[in-house]
Amino acid sequence: MDTTTPAARDVRYRTCPLCEAMCGLELEIEGDRVVRLRPDDADVWSKGYVCPKGAILPQLHADPDRLRAPLIRDGEAWREATWDEAFRRCAELLGGVLARHGKTAISAYIGNPTAHNFSLARYVGLFMGLSQLPVIYSAGTVDQWPKNVSCMLMYGHMWWIPTPDVQRTQYWMILGGNPQASQGSLLACPDLLGEIDRIRARGGKTVVVDPRRTGTADRADEWVAIVPGTDAAFLLAICNVLFAESLVRLGDLADVVNGVDEIRAAASDFTPERVAATCRIPADTIRRLAREIAAAPSAAVYGRIGLCNQEFGTLASALVDVVNFLTGNFDRPGGLMFGKPIAWSVNSLPNPEFASGLEFGRWKTRVRGAAEILGQAPLSCMAEEIATPGEGQIKALITIAGNPAISAPDAGRLDEALPQLECMISVDNYLNETTRHAHVILPGLSPLEQPHFDDLITMWAVRSAGNYSAPVFPPVPGRPAEWEILLKLGALAGGMTLEQIDVGAIDDGYFAALAMAQGVDAATILPLYEGRGPERLLDLQIRSGPFGDRYGERPGGLTLQSFVDAPHGIDMGPLVPRLRELLATPSGKVELAHGHVMADVPRLRARLDRPVQRLLLVSRRHLRSNNSWMHNLEPLVRGRDRCTLLVHPDDARPRSLADGALARVTSEAGTILVPVRVSDEMMPGVVSLPHGWGHDKDGIRLGVARRHAGVNSNILSPGRLVDPLSNNAVVNGIEVEVAPAG
Ligand code: SF4
Repeated sequence: MDTTTPAARDVRYRTCPLCEAMCGLELEIEGDRVVRLRPDDADVWSKGYVCPKGAILPQLHADPDRLRAPLIRDGEAWREATWDEAFRRCAELLGGVLARHGKTAISAYIGNPTAHNFSLARYVGLFMGLSQLPVIYSAGTVDQWPKNVSCMLMYGHMWWIPTPDVQRTQYWMILGGNPQASQGSLLACPDLLGEIDRIRARGGKTVVVDPRRTGTADRADEWVAIVPGTDAAFLLAICNVLFAESLVRLGDLADVVNGVDEIRAAASDFTPERVAATCRIPADTIRRLAREIAAAPSAAVYGRIGLCNQEFGTLASALVDVVNFLTGNFDRPGGLMFGKPIAWSVNSLPNPEFASGLEFGRWKTRVRGAAEILGQAPLSCMAEEIATPGEGQIKALITIAGNPAISAPDAGRLDEALPQLECMISVDNYLNETTRHAHVILPGLSPLEQPHFDDLITMWAVRSAGNYSAPVFPPVPGRPAEWEILLKLGALAGGMTLEQIDVGAIDDGYFAALAMAQGVDAATILPLYEGRGPERLLDLQIRSGPFGDRYGERPGGLTLQSFVDAPHGIDMGPLVPRLRELLATPSGKVELAHGHVMADVPRLRARLDRPVQRLLLVSRRHLRSNNSWMHNLEPLVRGRDRCTLLVHPDDARPRSLADGALARVTSEAGTILVPVRVSDEMMPGVVSLPHGWGHDKDGIRLGVARRHAGVNSNILSPGRLVDPLSNNAVVNGIEVEVAPAG
């Protein structure tokens, strides 16, 4: 099959790979340039929706700061190298650390863009398998780990995360999420603000529960301000009302749910009156909201990053799903449902680590003694594990598509620790705040140089749709794609020499193992393929998926060629009930009140009596940002300074904080200076900073971002603050002092 042939008239269609909205784009090509880009109105999924970030993919491709060749450090300077030379240097550095310190001295960091990259998403598991590194850090513990943990405990799988069926619901409650900026997170659906309008048009309602009146709240029917970190108390109070007023209805899921009585008992003293002062939501409002959810013809309660990156992240994340169960809104149209991807994701396979049972705390970090949870220690441990001498000290680090020097809590400490490494190798397209400390940088391809087909994020997509994108421009001959880079680095870290690495044989073995996991005979299908790599894997994912042809067993089923022939994608319909099919807990039932989660209720109860002494800081994101990247593109950063501290007028006045003036913000972790924006979009007592900024470091090669540097909010995030049930960082609800900088 030829997947790279240009379409007629040099018009290409492709999916924007930057976020979960998966927008279809139409690109007009002239030679090696994109001369026009517009939304693909015929895209079966996004139907012409696009945001400002997707429109600048051509500029991202052309960005002169984007690395096209490997860089090797020579003292303080960098020099471009050939790929052979770069891999030889990687082998030398990793081999040296292995020989001197052993495997425990090597670690890796996996960043968020990995999930959106065609190669990385499919091969990061192979990297982990080949390297067998004992500890790997990831952006997961500053993002969604509480949801992974709650889903693992409730349903038996950490990546089957139920999603709100927003296209059919009559009532959508959003806690700690801002789709206006994120475009959806752990929720894949294009044009979510449009969905809010459509919910209203069919007589429904959207409620946003958030400390900030976000762009989403502005579009919704109601904004309910809440003190950060108190969502779990609010949700238990909702449960309390449901039980007290006999509004609980499990419907036909009653036989598959454990723990209803435990939830009733836990919620018994979280009355609306008891939590009202802590959440700063009137008891009447809580009671009304509970009744509204219960009375709606269908309702979907959804929580996102504000619920995860907080003190009670796991408890709050679990309770979101509990409310959906109690009101009969789980696993039915318009409620919370599981996705049905056309192409299964490697993440959807059962985790072999837990084949003999789920266990937390299988190992502890060396310095802090943090117990692992689902294979992850808090990201904030990475700095101390690099900086603290002793057996097991990290001496070599491989970073994959991540910028932890910006995104890790206590970021200043990590920035100081990274130069102490004997070996740092970064798979990254930019010389940024993290990779400036590397010894070798191995750049991947531009989004327009590689194929695309989302898989992981379709596990929480609102329809079973898919779209294959062929590369728009061919990569420079001889340039490896990210999958080959990961394969080689994994093998090197695992102790192989470059000469021993047979890329083809390893990839064939990986493909065969994944085929076997799907019940497909690898020996029969391997001869069908000429090429290797992620496109071969994608064909397997589709053909052995729920709509696939199973290599001829299901005539008319889908193959990769079906998508090559359908440039606007293929839509196999809306969500269908899947809970019973996917449930994989030891009991065979949904664990609404798993002991690991419920053990946190006394700590939450104690929170109700803990007064807040200072202002509380929360994070925020902007539509034109994507965490710490996309800041090197002028169209996305020009205009008014976005890296500002939002302060309510009632908090600004007594502190003499003037709009536009510089403020000094201090937490127990650090101090930053940042301009103030006085705005009533914040609830009183809470201030907000965007994350992902701080591009003022020496040695970065980000010309545009440096001119719009901003400050790094993670300087203020204390590394010790984590949700103990998941190891996830607490970056929302940090106590800070704010004063005029002068
Ligand atoms: S919303 Fe924007 S960034 Fe996300 S996929 Fe669509 S165009 Fe890309």
